[in-house]
Amino acid sequence: MATYDYDLFVIGGGSGGVRAGRLAGAMGKRVGLAEAYRMGGTCVIRGCVPKKLFVYASQFQEHFDAAAGYGWTVGKSTFDWPTLIANKDREIARLEGLYRKGLENSDVEIFESRAMLIDDHTIEILKTGKRVTADQILIAVGGHPSPHPSLPGNEFCISSNEAFHLDTLPKAIVIEGGGYIAVEFANIFHGLGVDTTLVYRGKEILSRFDQDLRHMLHAAMAEKGIHVRCTEIITRVERQDDGRKLVHLSGGDAIVADQVMLAIGRVPNTTSLGLEAAGVAVDETGAIKVDGYSRTSRENIWAVGDVTNRVQLTPVAIHEAMCFLETAFKNNPTKPDHALIATAVFSQPEIGTVGLTEQDAARTFKAVEVYRAVFRPMRNTLSGSTEKMLMKLIVDADSRKVVGAHILGPDAGEMAQLLAIPMKAGCTKEDFDRTMAVHPTAAEELVTMYKPTYRIVDGARID
Ligand code: NDP
Repeated sequence: MATYDYDLFVIGGGSGGVRAGRLAGAMGKRVGLAEAYRMGGTCVIRGCVPKKLFVYASQFQEHFDAAAGYGWTVGKSTFDWPTLIANKDREIARLEGLYRKGLENSDVEIFESRAMLIDDHTIEILKTGKRVTADQILIAVGGHPSPHPSLPGNEFCISSNEAFHLDTLPKAIVIEGGGYIAVEFANIFHGLGVDTTLVYRGKEILSRFDQDLRHMLHAAMAEKGIHVRCTEIITRVERQDDGRKLVHLSGGDAIVADQVMLAIGRVPNTTSLGLEAAGVAVDETGAIKVDGYSRTSRENIWAVGDVTNRVQLTPVAIHEAMCFLETAFKNNPTKPDHALIATAVFSQPEIGTVGLTEQDAARTFKAVEVYRAVFRPMRNTLSGSTEKMLMKLIVDADSRKVVGAHILGPDAGEMAQLLAIPMKAGCTKEDFDRTMAVHPTAAEELVTMYKPTYRIVDGARID
């Protein structure tokens, strides 16, 4: 039997790679892990975590505004961008240290370098040229923001990567895209006082979400003063003599902004990885092809997370990594379960969602019941805010199962997480109905919507 330097070599130190490496090491496997940049990957270093810190930062003005209705007088408030960046960087460095420590505690050998496959069992550590061998290889190198190669002037634009490190807060920004990143950053920048324009090619932002959420969030963002321009694209970006950017839109307008941010999706990091040499196949998007167990076209090479064309979410990458360990090292073949993934968009107001949209449910089931409540959350009463909250449950009328839950409003992400449990367990609407409410909360609406607002039968709405 061939002997290798490692039982497992992991390429990529993000959420999926670190989890797999750490747990395999803890199982007593000999593990090597290569990471070219910083330990923690997109989520920790330039994604979910710093983004959420920015979201918190951007909410304070609304809190200050709301305080008066509750009797508070708040003095003149000012915001200092460099302070936020420095504090955020300190927190990210702390988390990065924890990731590294976890690997070290599991005796994982860390290579601070890019790594490349030479063949299906050999990896080259590019920094030193050293070659190592491994029985099993896990590719978990993630993705990067699409640079929008066809856009003239894209070299003057930033992505979310740079947004976390800008020297100065722009006075005006144009963001292209209508997905998670574009919408979240539009709200962040607006909340920090930046004149913000969101340019989206489709009819309504957040194309994969429930129509109700999309319309209500769009309206709320517009009400706050974010310029949301749908059915338009950026056609060209020019750099003016003063350094500001002139952004040409397909509708004919041109906007001057300090920064232009592209958030039009993320591309898997599969170039210069040696995939061809190792016999690992990619699909038409450049993502690594995997089977239901995350195994690539090579028996001993696996891939998890954003480098595969599945669901680009941190907890999904972690789950895929855990399933990989079961399959490859515990003799317990386990397929990742991608059904009913709860997700949040940290927009303002926030979105929390699990399961099918009303539109998808209507296509999937013969008869659907929609339970829908739109109301002003209690916290908005004394504050004077007119912002409304939406709660919506989608029920398959035959099985009675709750197949979709959609929330727009404060703490929607937290609620989606909890709703995912009964939904995963297959709870029916009647299970929701016999659950006692917690009063007074916004979430109590979820168990007190006793009558359907409308039904959809054979795709047609019946009020
Ligand atoms: P998304 O896939 O969410 O959105 C991409 C957006 O760009 C869509 O609105 C898409 O339009 C638009 N688009 C694509 N190509 C073009 C083009 N050529 N010109 C103009 N617009 C274009 O990607 P993001 O970059 O926002 O985020 C990447 C992934 O990261 C997400 O899919 C998500 O899984 C993850 N993420 C998750 C977060 C969370 O959990 N809160 C936060 C941030 C990211 P269309 O809809 O018409 O296709």
